[in-house]
Amino acid sequence: MPENRNQQTGLTQLKQALAPANWSTDPDIIAPYLQEWRERWHGHTPLLLLPRTCDEVVTAVKICAANKLAITPQGGNTGLVGGQIPQGEILLSTRMLNKVRHTDSDSITLEAGCILQNLHTQAEQMNQRFPLSLASQGSASIGGLCSTNAGGVHVVRYGSMRDLVLGLEVVLADGSLLSTLHKPKKDNTGYKLTPMFIGAEGTLGIITAAKLKLFPKPETTETIFVALSDVNSAIALYHLCKNELPDALSLIELVPERGLTFVTQHIANTRSPFNESYPWYVVIQFEFSQKPLARERIEALLETALNKGIVQNAVIAESAQQTQTLLALREQISAAQKPEGGSIKHDISVPIEAIPEFIQQASQAVELLIPGCRPLPFGHIGDGNIHFNVSQPLNMNTQEYLSHWEAMNQLIHNIVSEFNGSISAEHGIGILKISELYKHTDPVKLQTMQRIKRALDPDNIMNPRVLL
Ligand SMILES: Cc1cc2nc3c(=O)[nH]c(=O)nc-3n(C[C@H](O)[C@H](O)[C@H](O)COP(=O)(O)OP(=O)(O)OC[C@H]3O[C@@H](n4cnc5c(N)ncnc54)[C@H](O)[C@@H]3O)c2cc1C
Repeated sequence: MPENRNQQTGLTQLKQALAPANWSTDPDIIAPYLQEWRERWHGHTPLLLLPRTCDEVVTAVKICAANKLAITPQGGNTGLVGGQIPQGEILLSTRMLNKVRHTDSDSITLEAGCILQNLHTQAEQMNQRFPLSLASQGSASIGGLCSTNAGGVHVVRYGSMRDLVLGLEVVLADGSLLSTLHKPKKDNTGYKLTPMFIGAEGTLGIITAAKLKLFPKPETTETIFVALSDVNSAIALYHLCKNELPDALSLIELVPERGLTFVTQHIANTRSPFNESYPWYVVIQFEFSQKPLARERIEALLETALNKGIVQNAVIAESAQQTQTLLALREQISAAQKPEGGSIKHDISVPIEAIPEFIQQASQAVELLIPGCRPLPFGHIGDGNIHFNVSQPLNMNTQEYLSHWEAMNQLIHNIVSEFNGSISAEHGIGILKISELYKHTDPVKLQTMQRIKRALDPDNIMNPRVLL
C-alpha cells in the first residue's frame, strides 16, 4: 500500500534525521504522553519526537510533509479537549524545547516547551510579572497556552494569552519557518499573522517560541472572600469594584455553596472562612502599585457593599498564607469534584448581565434531564465565563451518568446560544466539541477558518482531527 510505504519511509527518515535521544518508540517512555488529565482519551502513535531545537522541528516537519505524515503537537499535556492526544499521528512533544532566548525590560522570548510556572519564577527574578495564571501552571507549556489561547484567573485585568503575546516563531506545515519575534510594535505591513496561530490548537503549524509581555509587579495585593445571597449580587459587586477601584481589580471568581462544601470536605487543610453557610461566594483580588491606603480603599468598598445589601459577610486576607488559603477555595473546585463521582463539564461564556438567568435556566434544564444531578457553576464571572460543571446524582452509576455527556452538552449549549454566548470560553474545541462548534458557529466564520486551514496546510498534516 503506497500510504504505508510513505509512512515507513517517513518514520525511517525521521529516526535518521534526529539524534537517537530525541525520539522514541519505547511504549514505556511514550505511555505518559498518551493519557490526559481527565483520563478521557487514550492515544497511540508510531513515534514520539522530542526535538531540542527549532531546526530539528523544521527538519521533522519537512520529512512529515514530504511523506504526508500527520503530526500532533503536544506541550504539557494539560489540555482539556483532547487535541494533544495522537490517534496514530506522529507525536511531537516540545518538552525539550525549553530555553529562554532573550529578556529585556518588559518582554521575554522563550521556547514553546517552557513551563508557565518556570516563567513566573523567571519573571520574578527580573522583578517583573507574567500575569497569566491557572491551576495547571506547573505543567502547561508556553506553546500549549498560546495554541489554546488560555485564560485563567487574571483575564479580567490582563486579558488572555492572545493579549499577552508580542510575537511568535512557527514551523508551518511545509516546514518553512515564520517568525514575528523581532517585529516592532508598530508594523503596518499587511495582515497581522501572530494572532492567527493563537487558539489554532496546532492545526496551522507548530509554535517553537514566543515573545511575551511582562508587567511591573504590584507593590501590594488585597484579597477578600465575600458571602452573597444570589448571583445578581455577584454581578452588582463586580460593577461596584469596577466603579470604585477601576485599575485595581485583578481577579473575581464565583464560588457556589456546593463548590465550597466539596472543597472543604475533600481537600486537606481547607475550611470555610465563615461560621454559617451562604448560597454564593466571590473571591476577589486587587492589585495596587502603591501600598499606602490600599487597605483603607478595600475596607471602604466592603462597607459600601455591606450597606447596599450586596454582600452578606466578608473576610480580608491578613497574610500571604491566608491569601493562598482563600484562593485555594476556588482553585480546588475541579479537584474536589472528583471524589463526588462523574462530572459533566461545560466551559461557556455569556454576557455578564445574563449570568444569573443563564445559571437558573441551565440548572433547571439539567435537573429535568437527570433528576438529582448536582449543578456546580463557578469561575471567571468578570469575563462572563462560567464553568458549568454538573456532578452526578448520589448513588447513580458513574458510567451511566457520563453516557449523558453529549445530551447534556447540547442542552446547555443551546441555552448558551440563546444568550449569544460561546460554547468554549477558554479550553478550545479539540476533538471534544467539534460537532457542537459546527452547530453553534456562523457558517461564514467556519468557511473562513476552513479556507485558512486549506491554504496553510493543504495536505492536512497538522493535527488533522482537531478543531475543524
Ligand atoms: C487543572 C487544570 C486547570 C486548568 N485551568 C485552565 C484555566 O483556568 N484556563 C484555561 O484557559 N485553561 C485551563 N486548563 C487547560 C490547559 O491547562 C490549557 O489549555 C493549557 O493552555 C494547555 O497547555 P499545554 O502545554 O498543556 O498544552 P497541551 O495540552 O499539550 O496541548 C493543547 C493543545 O495545543 C496544541 N499544542 C501544544 N503545544 C503546541 C505547540 N508548541 N504548537 C502548536 N500547537 C501546540 C496541542 O496539539 C493541543 O491541541 C486547565 C487544565 C487543567 C488540567
